[in-house]
Amino acid sequence: MLDIAIIGAGPGGLALALRLEQKGFRPTIYEGVKELKPLGVGVDIKIYGTREITEMGLLEEFRAISVEAIDSLFFTRYGQMIYGEKCGKHMGYPHEQRFVHRGTLQMMFFDAVLQRLGAERVKLGARLKGFEQDEAGVTLTFEDAEGVPRTARHDVVIGADGIKSVVRNQLVPSSTGSHYSGIAMWRGVTVMKPYRNGGTILHLGDPIAQGSMIVYPIANNVEGQGSQLINWVVEQNGQPKSLEDWNQRVTPDEIAHNFDECKLGFVDPGEIIRNASEVYLYPLVDRDPLDQWSFGRVTLMGDAAHAMYPRGGNGLCQALVDARVLAEKLSEVNNPQEAFKQYEEIRRPFANRLVIANRGEGPEVVRRIVEERSGGKPFDDIEQIFPIAECEKIFLEYHRMAGMQRPDDAGPLGFRESFFNEDRASKASTGTDISQSTGGRRG
Ligand SMILES: Cc1cc2nc3c(=O)[nH]c(=O)nc-3n(C[C@H](O)[C@H](O)[C@H](O)COP(=O)(O)OP(=O)(O)OC[C@H]3O[C@@H](n4cnc5c(N)ncnc54)[C@H](O)[C@@H]3O)c2cc1C
Repeated sequence: MLDIAIIGAGPGGLALALRLEQKGFRPTIYEGVKELKPLGVGVDIKIYGTREITEMGLLEEFRAISVEAIDSLFFTRYGQMIYGEKCGKHMGYPHEQRFVHRGTLQMMFFDAVLQRLGAERVKLGARLKGFEQDEAGVTLTFEDAEGVPRTARHDVVIGADGIKSVVRNQLVPSSTGSHYSGIAMWRGVTVMKPYRNGGTILHLGDPIAQGSMIVYPIANNVEGQGSQLINWVVEQNGQPKSLEDWNQRVTPDEIAHNFDECKLGFVDPGEIIRNASEVYLYPLVDRDPLDQWSFGRVTLMGDAAHAMYPRGGNGLCQALVDARVLAEKLSEVNNPQEAFKQYEEIRRPFANRLVIANRGEGPEVVRRIVEERSGGKPFDDIEQIFPIAECEKIFLEYHRMAGMQRPDDAGPLGFRESFFNEDRASKASTGTDISQSTGGRRG
C-alpha cells in the first residue's frame, strides 16, 4: 500500500486523512504543534462544504457543533436594508449551509482521525524543516518539540501546512511573500442571546468610510443558557499591515464606535463588538496563485496550495474538495506522480480563479454601490437608488461564479417576495421587527 505523509493537521490535512482512510489508505500526519487546540474564530461552511462533510460520514457530528444558516441580510451603515436572500436548504439547495468555529471543526475531524486511523498515525510536535525526494521516495526532516532533528521516509508527501507552508516555500521559493490587501480585519466572538431567527448572517456598514462588518452565530446553547456564540469580523481599508499571526489579541474599543449609528432594531452591532470575549487583529493577506502544485512525489493542498482571503467562506471548503479529489486520484491511478498531476489539473484552475475572485468585493459590492449613490446619507426609497433587478443580478452572478448557481436562477422574481413574506411571519415568533430598519422596499 502507498505510504503517504500529510504535513499539517489543520482542517485540510485531517480531512485528507479521513478521505484517504475511506479509500483504504493509512496515511501518517505530521503536525508542528505539540497539542491541537481549537484555535481561530468562525468559518462559513457553504453547501458544497456540507456535502463533503456528509460524504465523510460526519454530518450529525457537524450539526451538533454548528449553526444552520437561514438567511443572509445586507444593511447600510445606518441599518437600512439593501437586500436579503435565504441560505442552503432554505434557498432550495440540496445541502445545508452552516456556521462553525474553525477550531471546533478541526477538533471534530481530529477525533474522527483518532477513531478511524488510530493515535499512532498522528505525530504531534513534528515541525517539518525540509525534504529531499529521489526515484523511490521522500525523506522528511523535522524538528521535534524539544528542537531535536528527526527524519522519516514515505512514498509520497502532501503539504497541508497552511498559508506559511514550508513545503510550498521549498517547492516554489518565490512564493514566500504574502499579498496584502491594505485591509485590516478585526475578528471576535461574543456570547449573547440569539438575534432574529438564530441563523442570520448580517453584512453591515459601508466598506468605504466606516468599515464593513459581518456577523453570524457559530454555536448554539453555549454555557447551557440558550445563548449563542456570535462570530464577527470588521474590515477596514487603508490600514498598515499588522502581524501575520492568527492569534494576535487586541481590544475592541478602536472599532466598536464605528457602528454606533447602525440601528438595526433587533441587535446592536457596536454592543456585539464591545461585549466580545476575544478580539484578534489579522491583515487580509493571501498568496499569489501558483503555476504548479505537484512536483514528482510531493504536492500541495488547502491553504498551502491556494491561500485566499478568509472571506466568503471558501478557504476551508476548498480544502475539503482538495481532500476528496486527492484521495480519489490516489486510489484510481496507480502511479502517484500521475495521480498528483491529475488532481492538480482538476483543482488548480478553479482554486486559482477563486483566489483572484476573492480579492474583489463579491456580493459585498452592493453596500459600496448604495454608499456611493446615496452620498453616505440615509435614503427614503432604496428602489430609487438601487433597483432590485440590478441588485438581484449581482447576487445571481456571484453564485454562478462560485459554482453554486442559485436554484431560483432564471426564475421569476416572485421568489424573493415569498422570502420576505416568510420573513415577516418569522419575526413575529422571534419578537424582532426588521421592518423598523428597512428602507421600505423589503420590509
Ligand atoms: C491557528 C489558526 C487559526 C485560524 N483561524 C481562522 C479563522 O478564524 N477564520 C478563517 O477563516 N480561517 C482561519 N484559519 C485558516 C483556515 O483554517 C484555513 O484557511 C482553512 O481551514 C484551510 O486549512 P488548512 O488545513 O489548509 O490550513 P491551516 O488551517 O492553516 O492548517 C495548517 C496546519 O499545518 C500546521 N503546520 C504549519 N507548518 C507546519 C510545519 N512546518 N510542520 C508541520 N505542521 C505544520 C499548522 O500548525 C496547522 O495545524 C486559521 C488557521 C490557523 C493555523
